[in-house]
Amino acid sequence: MNRDLLEAVCKTPGIPGYEDEIQDVVQAYLNPICDEVSRDRVGNVIGLKRATHPPTNGDRPLRVILAAHADEVGMMVKHIDADGFIRFQPVGGLNPQVLVSQRVIIHSKKKVNGVIVPRRAGHPLPTLDEMLIDVGLPRANVCEAVQVGDIVTFASEFAQLNDKVYIGRNFDDRIGTYCMLDAMEHLGPTSVDVYAVSSVQEEMGVRGMPMAAYAIEPDIGLALDGSVTWGAHIPKHEHICAMGEGTGIYIIDNLTIGDRRLVYFLFDLCEKNNITYQRNIGGGTDASAIQRTKSGALSTTVGAPVRYMHSTVQLCHEDDIEATVALLKVFLEHAHELDF
Ligand SMILES: [Zn+2]
Repeated sequence: MNRDLLEAVCKTPGIPGYEDEIQDVVQAYLNPICDEVSRDRVGNVIGLKRATHPPTNGDRPLRVILAAHADEVGMMVKHIDADGFIRFQPVGGLNPQVLVSQRVIIHSKKKVNGVIVPRRAGHPLPTLDEMLIDVGLPRANVCEAVQVGDIVTFASEFAQLNDKVYIGRNFDDRIGTYCMLDAMEHLGPTSVDVYAVSSVQEEMGVRGMPMAAYAIEPDIGLALDGSVTWGAHIPKHEHICAMGEGTGIYIIDNLTIGDRRLVYFLFDLCEKNNITYQRNIGGGTDASAIQRTKSGALSTTVGAPVRYMHSTVQLCHEDDIEATVALLKVFLEHAHELDF
């Protein structure tokens, strides 16, 4: 695994609608390894690697998408009150359970550090409306430094928790971004055109991917996103994937029924190539936009299990990341064999 690349994508912030910084990192990485790289009007970065072995019968190569979303959940400054405390607007699905005591960074002209605190002491579980950001400055200084609409990200950084497990605030979906870039870099010969899409605004309800999919008009597509895994707060029967036991292949989620031909093709590839995998039932991803674009595409989602998604202590296992990259490579090299 390329730890430096994983760290680089994890430490770069990008909340929905404000993905430029992470997209710059992705675009710079794709530039030397793709035939073409572009950024569309809404901010999706699209890298194209053309088929090295196009069909000899004159047919055009199949168009295959890998898609990882560039945005991470965050917040925005909503109001500065009479005492200089900041009310915030969630951008993406935030879980109130994990917010109190988090350190945050407000991205104004300068970066301003703050902490999230409950508005009243002794409240068992404050809602988002009952929390504030305290930047530890008098109101006049806060008003000078911070404006309504400034974006707010969590300050927690990427780290290694133990030999095999990493921790980060944005593994949903930076692990997907990492797997896409690593697979593109080490891709062998293909008979399909491969489009790597770093999409925007997925966390707001799959808002960026539809435009990229419309432009590409794919035949097949894989969204790369975390597989929800059981952990301390999610019982095993609610999520069927486990951290450390292989890449997750989505059979169904809240937005997409994984195309059964594609899903079983992926199972088969894993078995033939000794890639550890798990059947997953997931939340909802960019696969929905790929599947339902123009006249439709075969689509599902693949991804390493991530524990505690949408918290600042997301966990992921190195073996699962490696299994995901291995599957993506073998899939792209064999995608032309998929019979449909
Ligand atoms: Zn995600």
